[in-house]
Amino acid sequence: MTLSPAFPCNQCGACCRLVSLAQETQFLDRGDGACRHYDDQNRLCTIYDTRPIVCQVDKQFLLNYQQTYSWQEFINVNRIACLELEKYPLTLNSAYNVHCERQAPITKE
Ligand code: SF4
Repeated sequence: MTLSPAFPCNQCGACCRLVSLAQETQFLDRGDGACRHYDDQNRLCTIYDTRPIVCQVDKQFLLNYQQTYSWQEFINVNRIACLELEKYPLTLNSAYNVHCERQAPITKE
């Protein structure tokens, strides 16, 4: 099933750099708060095609949240989390130089 619209990921990498902040992703922590599969240089996931379901917003929705939220509501909730992560100080690993583009504010349908 293809969900529409696509999740508006701006590929800032904040969720991959801050896996230690969420209980669901702490198992990915390489020791400095970032995911052990995150490529710091290229700012990409090195296991993208086989990344855990917790990293696949579409599958997470279909498996665990479609009884609770509409797809658009799930996008909105996750975008709020994205914006919070993007604001998070990069003190966990100051070597990162991440550019996070701000998107339009989320409005509830
Ligand atoms: S597995 Fe990939 S997508 Fe998931 S947090 Fe790690 S780097 Fe990011």
